[in-house]
Amino acid sequence: MDVLFDLDGTLVEYERPGQVVLEAAFDRVGVEPFFEVTDFEVRYDDFFEQSDSIVELRERIFADIATSRDVDPELGVEVARAYDDERDHTRVRLLPGATDVLDALADRPLAMVTNGDPEMQRPKLEATGLDAYFETVVYAGHDAAPKPDPAPFHLALDAIDGSPDQAIYVGNDPNADVGGAAAAGLDSVWLRNGATTRPRTKPTYTIESLAELFETPILERSV
Ligand SMILES: [Mg+2]
Repeated sequence: MDVLFDLDGTLVEYERPGQVVLEAAFDRVGVEPFFEVTDFEVRYDDFFEQSDSIVELRERIFADIATSRDVDPELGVEVARAYDDERDHTRVRLLPGATDVLDALADRPLAMVTNGDPEMQRPKLEATGLDAYFETVVYAGHDAAPKPDPAPFHLALDAIDGSPDQAIYVGNDPNADVGGAAAAGLDSVWLRNGATTRPRTKPTYTIESLAELFETPILERSV
């Protein structure tokens, strides 16, 4: 069985939490903070499909939040741009268990399906050494439509000569990852990782940490 992975929140995370970056962005623009990072996250799914990139998505959402708070939407766009300038894509760390899991899978062709442009995602792969593990990386939203569209999953499977019914996807996002994998015909592992909403589609497995993959049939430790 081929195993495909998500990147953000599954294998790596930023050293600086989004809320800290957002506060720095408000500071840069010189306005009083008028929303929190969770206000952004709850609007994510509503704006995802109409946005061509994460940067555009953030601009649209920040503008929408501004409007809903009686703030000039242009100011929202400015804060979004400041957020982008503040965010350093090399300041990331691996999630616990990431290399153990990938080492254990080293004899299989591994593929990654991540939402985000190469300019944003490649530095994370290089900074953490993950680039050495993945012969195939699909930058969804750039190489194909973004997850949860099935296209990027199929593109990754084509690259490793795999098929959906013989593949499983590991990711943390209830909609983009679990929903996307199901739409593409793959089984899924949902790494819960602090998510507050549950997937609408039932994941094949739910785990709390990457190490729990060793307790699933994907990686079950044999004696
Ligand atoms: Mg993720």
